[in-house]
Amino acid sequence: MLRTRAELRAALEHAPRPLGLVPTMGALHEGHASLIWRARSENRTVLTTIFVNPRQFNETSDFEKYPRNEAADVRLAGASGADLVWIPGVEDVYPDGFQTAVRVGALTEPLEGAARPGHFEGVTTVVAILLGLAGADHAYFGQKDAQQLLVVRRMARDLGIGTAIVACPIVREPDGLAMSSRNVRLTADERAAAPVLRRALLAARGIYEAGERDGEKLRAAMNAALAAEPLAHPEYVSCADPETLIEHGIFDGPALLSMAVRFGAVRLIDNEPLP
Ligand code: AMP
Repeated sequence: MLRTRAELRAALEHAPRPLGLVPTMGALHEGHASLIWRARSENRTVLTTIFVNPRQFNETSDFEKYPRNEAADVRLAGASGADLVWIPGVEDVYPDGFQTAVRVGALTEPLEGAARPGHFEGVTTVVAILLGLAGADHAYFGQKDAQQLLVVRRMARDLGIGTAIVACPIVREPDGLAMSSRNVRLTADERAAAPVLRRALLAARGIYEAGERDGEKLRAAMNAALAAEPLAHPEYVSCADPETLIEHGIFDGPALLSMAVRFGAVRLIDNEPLP
């Protein structure tokens, strides 16, 4: 396990290439493990980073209550195929006097960006640092955070970062709930209600497959499914262009269905790409 930038640099100096990077905030689950496995299958060295990035939390309580379990994380990362695990402190990621930010434009404005001011600037700043320090050939991100994936891709292209950004599919619980480190914070009743996100996405996908191409109708189908669950408090539902994230009216072509829903103190997101 590596702690400082110097330890990371030393470990990477003679690491066999290609190098795959899997950035995480820890509390690792099978979703993270799937990214590490994928990296294992495509690289000779796999580096996982675990850092709960204070800059990407727009709510202090969410940051403070974010689950942390370093020992279990190191075990799961190793069992999933990571060769190196970097667990920096805040001062290792943001050295003394730090004053740089990376901000992506219009893609960061809707959806998660509108709901969580400052979130994406925190994400792109830390990911730029991680990509710079690791100099990886490939970096692995989950489709679970679909907007994050688009924003990171845009940033890497815009800044000429040589690391290829690889998208990995969403890993779900048997009842359809997307795996998330925040799921452990749900009460038993909230946990039982949470698969409604998946049901809402599938309801909209169902009418899409039957030929519906009005974004308004797909959003209405998701809202209707969510309304059937009293513990679910939707923050947004979206049927948008999967590249620009601009909301669809009548459309022709692919779409990204996505939503953020609160259950008590816990905020969950999920999405479904339509071909
Ligand atoms: P996090 O630790 O939540 O920042 O997530 C680290 C990476 O794991 C991100 O690229 C996420 O999109 C990805 N990830 C989180 N949950 C899942 C999941 N259920 N399936 C696939 N990837 C995931």
